[in-house]
Amino acid sequence: MELDIDRLDFDHCEDEPIHTPESVQSYGYFFAMNEQEQNIAIISENVLSLLPIEEELIGWNFFDLLDEGEVDREFILETFDRAKEKETRLPIRIKFKEEYVIPDMGSDFLAVIYYSSGHIVIELEPATKFREVYSAEHYVKMYATRTAPRFQQFESLADMAERMVETIRYITGMERVVLYRFNDDASGVVIAEAKVDEIESYLGVNYPASDIPAQARELYKKNWIRLTPDVNLKPARLLPAVEESGRPKLDLTHSLLRTMSPIHRQYIRNQGLCASFSMSLVTHDNLWGLISCHCRKPTYIPQDVRLQCENLSQLFSWHLYAKEEELHLNQRNRTEDAIRTMLDKVSANNPIVDIFSEHEEDILKIMDSEGFVFFSEGKTVSIGTVPEISVVQEFYDALDTEKNRYYVTDQLVDKVSEESLLNGIVGILLIPLLGQRNYFTAWFRKEHKREQKWVGLPNERSDASTKREKLTPRASFDIHVKKITGQSKKFTEIDIDMAIRFNRVFLAYVLEVQEKMRQDLLALEEQDRHRNEFLATLAHELRNPLTPIKTGIDILERNDDENIRNTVNSTIRRQVKNLTKLIDDLMDISRVNKGKIKLDLQPVMIQETIGSALEISENALTSKQHESVIHMPEEPLWVRGDPTRLSQVFSNLLNNAAKYTENGGEISIAVEKRKSDISVKIIDNGLGIPPHKLQRIFNMFTQVEEHGPHSNGGLGIGLALVKKLVELHDGSVVARSGGLDKGSEFEVILPRLQKSETGRPESDSSSYKRSVKKKILIVDDNPDIIQMYEMLLQTMGYETQTAQNGRQAIAIFPGFKPDFALLDIGMNDMNGYELRQALAKFPEAVNTVFFSQSGWGNKTDFAQSKASGFRKHFVKPLDLKKLQQELAQYQDWVEEE
Ligand code: ADP
Repeated sequence: MELDIDRLDFDHCEDEPIHTPESVQSYGYFFAMNEQEQNIAIISENVLSLLPIEEELIGWNFFDLLDEGEVDREFILETFDRAKEKETRLPIRIKFKEEYVIPDMGSDFLAVIYYSSGHIVIELEPATKFREVYSAEHYVKMYATRTAPRFQQFESLADMAERMVETIRYITGMERVVLYRFNDDASGVVIAEAKVDEIESYLGVNYPASDIPAQARELYKKNWIRLTPDVNLKPARLLPAVEESGRPKLDLTHSLLRTMSPIHRQYIRNQGLCASFSMSLVTHDNLWGLISCHCRKPTYIPQDVRLQCENLSQLFSWHLYAKEEELHLNQRNRTEDAIRTMLDKVSANNPIVDIFSEHEEDILKIMDSEGFVFFSEGKTVSIGTVPEISVVQEFYDALDTEKNRYYVTDQLVDKVSEESLLNGIVGILLIPLLGQRNYFTAWFRKEHKREQKWVGLPNERSDASTKREKLTPRASFDIHVKKITGQSKKFTEIDIDMAIRFNRVFLAYVLEVQEKMRQDLLALEEQDRHRNEFLATLAHELRNPLTPIKTGIDILERNDDENIRNTVNSTIRRQVKNLTKLIDDLMDISRVNKGKIKLDLQPVMIQETIGSALEISENALTSKQHESVIHMPEEPLWVRGDPTRLSQVFSNLLNNAAKYTENGGEISIAVEKRKSDISVKIIDNGLGIPPHKLQRIFNMFTQVEEHGPHSNGGLGIGLALVKKLVELHDGSVVARSGGLDKGSEFEVILPRLQKSETGRPESDSSSYKRSVKKKILIVDDNPDIIQMYEMLLQTMGYETQTAQNGRQAIAIFPGFKPDFALLDIGMNDMNGYELRQALAKFPEAVNTVFFSQSGWGNKTDFAQSKASGFRKHFVKPLDLKKLQQELAQYQDWVEEE
């Protein structure tokens, strides 16, 4: 019986509900009784050949027909209530009274009972031979006890599905049993098959979604088994017919006997089959797959065997579902582990962007991708192969970020104007980072060429097909191979999950970067504000010295008085000096900023540098009566540097310490030798620096408002210059302070040169070394001078003692046994010559070298000094270099003696 396509009403066929066909397959018998009286209301027409009752069957009480020996009315009605309550059908047995049944038909029937629109429905099928039922039970039991417990050992879905189709084939005796898994788009693929040799294999074949129409799908979810034992079996209509009785159509959703749609029957026929049995695999009300059994000859499967299959189908569904979940979970765990290992490496110093760049290969492998890009306004990181970024941006722009968390496709090619911009990429998973902004991450996949087996003829149907064409069941079940090109591997749910995880880490990174940008912006604004203030100050400061200079010049023009002219001259000189210093600093900083400063690099002994810095800052320190404390190791410490610039650094810091400390403060210099560097700390007990300024104190133009009066025309560039110069020496400088009035500490750290790297002859440093052991007695009646000399000489490594007059010197001398004595000539109690005489008398003076010093330096002074036994006469202010040279020279002389 061929389907007469032309007689089908295509315009409505698609919408025709398939659960009310008003007929059943004639291998069973159908009764519907009204619920209250249990009177027969509807029967299938073949019932008449089973129960040839003379009068009309409709209206009979069903139970009057029964032999209620074993299964009585009460039990049947109880079963019905249960089935109705659970919205299912339940099995019962029915025995008719012998007198009503045609003798050959037997009176024992298997039946199912269920509720349908106010009716008790009972569907009967002849009771089976014990053999069939029992062997079905054996296989069910074997599956339950032997296969199911091995759940964990199956490595893939297909492995497990294979056991299932084998079991069903044994139970049903069908020629071919296949198990389909449905894809998200409702197409399906056969993942397991059991079959006799002669019949064609469908394993691995794909079926288009259109092969199972949507209504059928819905019905498959509610009714899990369907048997068509013979496509040519004539359907038995339900009586009385709807048209005659005016009754509504009966809902056969739960029916076992429901006739299949003519289209479906034709579909079976077109496959060259005669019988078909299918079982739904349903989980969470979702059609996961189907088991479909095929036979080329009529094959009846007894009702109870089918019901066993129905039970099994549920067991299978959940087993497959659980296996799939387990496999996903394993994959997810493996990927998560890999990601976790990667993310564990993320830290403040090792941001995610760096990790991505460093572990390019691993990361792309984890995500099974060929490329990745992190796009942000500030920084874009891309690894592997990526399309032109503008193309990716277009996809980002087109994405409605409010509605969609990501954009994914495995077929980019038709979506871009110019394919060459894709660089071979065809799959993309793009995830925005922040709703409104231009930030995202994207993963890319290249084309994944593969072959797929599909049922039917290539391009047999297209979207353009007519409704009629679409509804016509496929005529060909040939299998053709489709070459899949222009597509990448699909991004799975797991891929998307993992990508979202990575995204979160990038999000954290972006937020951090944004915060930093915000801070930088604030700092820039602040700097800008400072610059404006600076320009105002600069104008003021430059004008300041000009006033006295201008006035001075006026006076000089008009005034001949020598004294006045001298005073004016020195005022002008002082002001010019201030101006020059200001301009020098500005020039320096601008040179450093432009990278134009040239350092005259050479090995520099840090003690010497500090000595000359102290010399430069002498005036600043002494004029405010600060006490200086110096801690320096005896061993000469070397750095590679520009001596002038380094002195400038330390004298700047010393000047500041002096400037920002009230009179009579204490300023210490502590030099420390470290493993590979040298630390120089300049510590004062002065005005201190508030914490909020400490961070920025080295920025240009930064000044502490509270220090206003002490700044003395400073512009806040000194420390900026210090920092730049130190950095040019590969060093660093930090400022510390407990806060206002808590003093300050500036620490300069410079890389230390090993002695071998200094390139100086051994004697050079050893002469210093020898001299450090030497002692010097300093005698001068000016305490400031004493302090300065002491500081300088200690810096040079000498041990010093001081005296402010002759008496003190005489008292100290024998105990101290100095190697050198530096005596002032003009003192109150005795002059230097007299003191020299007195000291030379001590036996301890035998090796002492005497130097004299005074404010006078004409010939007679030198001659008199020499005559009095001094080795050399120095004129104040003392020239440190000269003194140093002398000491070194005489020291050798001392040794020789
Ligand atoms: P200035 O010319 O203002 O001294 P600097 O760059 O040398 O410029 O110093 C910047 C600011 O840092 C100073 O204005 C002062 O407020 C603060 N400062 C520098 N050194 C010290 C210190 N030793 N103690 C307290 N404040 C200091």
